[in-house]
Amino acid sequence: MAVQFSRGCPFQCEFCDIIVLYGRKPRTKSPDQLLSELNVLLALGWRGEIFLVDDNFIGNKRNVTLMLPALLSWQQQHQFPFAFTTEASIDLAVDQSLMEMMTASGFRRVFLGIETPDQDSLLGAQKFQNIRSPLIDAVDSITAHGLEVMAGFILGFDGEKAGAGERIVAFVEQTAIPLAMLGILQAFPNTALSQRLAREGRLIACDGEFDEGVQTYLLNFRPTRPMSDIAHEFLAAFAALYEPHNYMRRIFRYSLKLSAGRDASSGRRSQLRPWTQGSGVIRGLLTLIWRQGIRRSTRWLFWRQLLAMTMRYPYRLDDYFWLLMLNEHFIDYQSIVKSQIESQLYSSQYRELDLDQAHSIVQSAQLSPAN
Ligand code: SF4
Repeated sequence: MAVQFSRGCPFQCEFCDIIVLYGRKPRTKSPDQLLSELNVLLALGWRGEIFLVDDNFIGNKRNVTLMLPALLSWQQQHQFPFAFTTEASIDLAVDQSLMEMMTASGFRRVFLGIETPDQDSLLGAQKFQNIRSPLIDAVDSITAHGLEVMAGFILGFDGEKAGAGERIVAFVEQTAIPLAMLGILQAFPNTALSQRLAREGRLIACDGEFDEGVQTYLLNFRPTRPMSDIAHEFLAAFAALYEPHNYMRRIFRYSLKLSAGRDASSGRRSQLRPWTQGSGVIRGLLTLIWRQGIRRSTRWLFWRQLLAMTMRYPYRLDDYFWLLMLNEHFIDYQSIVKSQIESQLYSSQYRELDLDQAHSIVQSAQLSPAN
């Protein structure tokens, strides 16, 4: 289920349409309003995951800090029926008491827009909050507080150097972030990015289907390096991130770190019990065991890691199974992404644009965000 507490974000990332749509002064609901919405979901019989679909949950820290104690006491009063996921900016990592309060109130996952480990690209995109302290330390700190990090990454920033995709994969490996959502930069309407690109004459007039910012579309503007290089790096990185052995090893490492963090911050409370969530979840578990533990070549890794998780953190198996299941989605999705990106890359629309030639024109013009 999805519930919203706040809208807007105080930051100024150049590519972001949130701040264009909802502004840079985040507004929130009152704690009472949020709790009354949770009461409705509870009365309707909902239990389990709730996504607080805020643009930046900690955008208005004052109001979040006022709301969380009320949420904690509501959760305690109702025996923690809900587990929360939300989106937040990475400066969450420097606020220990906020992270502790979130974990105590039942927050289990947080999505961070990390975008890239390349500092120059972050600077160019005006994502200044991501360069104030080391990104790896920030991810580790949030994880150590028992919050599972999901992260968004983007390829195609201006001035991006070759190998950006490999550097993202290396970063994900180093931090062991399980769910790394990799996308290609899109200039959304009315953003600072699209306005700059329009001034520079770099927007590509698309035929309608290219205007959605998801993982199956190439850039909708002329990049500063060859479009085909970006596309191939994107596909290679996507494949590396969700290769079944890589993924399984990564989530195991992360689950150990996360479990230790959750023990320290919220005790041994397991909030979700898949076996209480109906036949669909049981069927999913059986499919998972069949595919990953019997049919696929990951079988030995699957059982070895499962045994280790069961012995060390039996009360965290629900999180671990959830992560294992998600790879089934990404394996399927990867083939869709590959076929769609390749079909665009070789489509007449993109070939006619002769983007690799355009790239040298853009480069020689020495374009920069300041222009
Ligand atoms: S932190 Fe996220 S929501 Fe806020 S401006 Fe940047 S991209 Fe947009």
